[in-house]
Amino acid sequence: MDVFIGVAWPYASGPRHLGHLAGVYLPADVAARYHRLAGDRVLMVSGSDQHGTPITVAAERAGLSPGALADREHERTAATFARVGVSFDHYTRTATPRHHQVVQRLFGRLHERGLVEEATAPAAWCPREGRSLPDRYVEGDCPACGTPGARGDQCDACGRTLDPDELRRPRCRRCGAPAELRRLRQLFLRLDLLQPQVERYLDGHQGGWRPFVGREARGWLRAGLRPRAITRDLDWGVPVPLPGWRDRRLYVWFDAVIGYLSASVEWAALRGDPDAWRRWWQGEAARHRYFIGKDNVWFHTVWWPAILLGAGPWDAAAGRGLRPPDDVVASHHLTLAGGRMSASRGHGLGIDESLDRVGVDPLRHALCALTPETADTELEWSRVEELTASGLLGAVAGPAHRVATLLWRRFGGRPDPAAWTAARAERATAAEALEAAGAAIAAAELRRALQVVHGLGRAVNRRLAAAEPWRLPDPEAHRELTRLLPLLDAVGVAAWPLVPDTAGRVRALLGRPPTPTGWRLDPTPPAVPGPSAPPLRRPDAPSPGSSR
Ligand SMILES: [Zn+2]
Ligand SMILES: [Zn+2]
Repeated sequence: MDVFIGVAWPYASGPRHLGHLAGVYLPADVAARYHRLAGDRVLMVSGSDQHGTPITVAAERAGLSPGALADREHERTAATFARVGVSFDHYTRTATPRHHQVVQRLFGRLHERGLVEEATAPAAWCPREGRSLPDRYVEGDCPACGTPGARGDQCDACGRTLDPDELRRPRCRRCGAPAELRRLRQLFLRLDLLQPQVERYLDGHQGGWRPFVGREARGWLRAGLRPRAITRDLDWGVPVPLPGWRDRRLYVWFDAVIGYLSASVEWAALRGDPDAWRRWWQGEAARHRYFIGKDNVWFHTVWWPAILLGAGPWDAAAGRGLRPPDDVVASHHLTLAGGRMSASRGHGLGIDESLDRVGVDPLRHALCALTPETADTELEWSRVEELTASGLLGAVAGPAHRVATLLWRRFGGRPDPAAWTAARAERATAAEALEAAGAAIAAAELRRALQVVHGLGRAVNRRLAAAEPWRLPDPEAHRELTRLLPLLDAVGVAAWPLVPDTAGRVRALLGRPPTPTGWRLDPTPPAVPGPSAPPLRRPDAPSPGSSR
């Protein structure tokens, strides 16, 4: 299978917090690592969303140009993702000529097909400064939940997407003056005309989604899709490729979702095979999996499918249409004591800060255990420490360390060949566990996958406690230790997508290469190559490079 993994594009306005990692980037990375081992051809892309008023507002505050701020934050975000081991095939950004070209091409296709139309829309206006106030330049009370400080594009308190004219008591965010509404000409995407196609698309796809995702998408359709403005009164963003629109830019959410496609096109061009992206976007054997936060369900279940279905074939003369999302994996929020995390409000814990505190795998492990799959989840640091001790050490790294140490001290690290051949029951248990862990990851259920891994490690601990091989004479001790090896081999594979460094160390203890070659058990017996190093690396120690 050709698996495309699209990961939500972070705004290049400031550092990302742990909520983003737990809900979006980590689940996507675990999926990518699993699919690669399972033999699928994976293309995982994302990039920094460098346009829109989130960037221009942050740039004004920092005293930088939008481009300078967005490039600086892009570099930082990319470095953070590399540090935590998110294995993108391509991580790019939206302020590139190639992204602009791809966006303008899709805009052109929609325009040719009569799906883009000019109309006027109410826009917020600051009378004191004499300028319009798109999106985040206007603030007011949320019309849905009443919270003050909602912005013209979104309410952070309830997550609702807003238009500036929906705010109550709107005011200019720069100077505080009460905002007026004026009508400005804009270009609209005729979502109303696309509603039947989006309905057919949802009928065919929402079956496997988390129930709240399908419900929300259906809710938008029941309310009826209306034309939506896809231009803004800004000078930062993708220019509108039509005469007479030089003072407008395309709406940031119009260009950001097209990033999934432009990043794929760019990835193909950079590897010298410019048509390589088509396998995923036009191929029959492709599956598209998107990983997003629950605030962005609308943009991935209605908006992006509407753009793709509306644009039709990429090549106007002939050719297939572009594939819309198959899976839309949306997560709930990870919260800290005191409320949900929000990058734009400066409330949250930075990913880098958390890595400094506990290290890569303790953080990945804890976030897999606490992943907000079914409901908002609260993070407490004492819980992370407990999970590291009982789970990562106690049930992933520790069992392999104990068995390898005993096998090395008494038997030179070699298993008993007859006991290895006879360990059929253990091999069957290990194979079943691998299958169960793979199925859980394929269904984006990290917590369940981690439970399978823990179950294997704890089974080894129980057997050690029951048999006490350190009290047994040599032949029996050798047999007992050898029979545990298939279970440990399964830990080294099943844990790898979740905690690659620790899984690589488990494998190295057994004399295996740190990176598994497939989602399967190695048929040849392992051999412990030397005395075992401590089972968990300290956070400040360098990584052995086993992250890919
Ligand atoms: Zn609200
Ligand atoms: Zn003002």
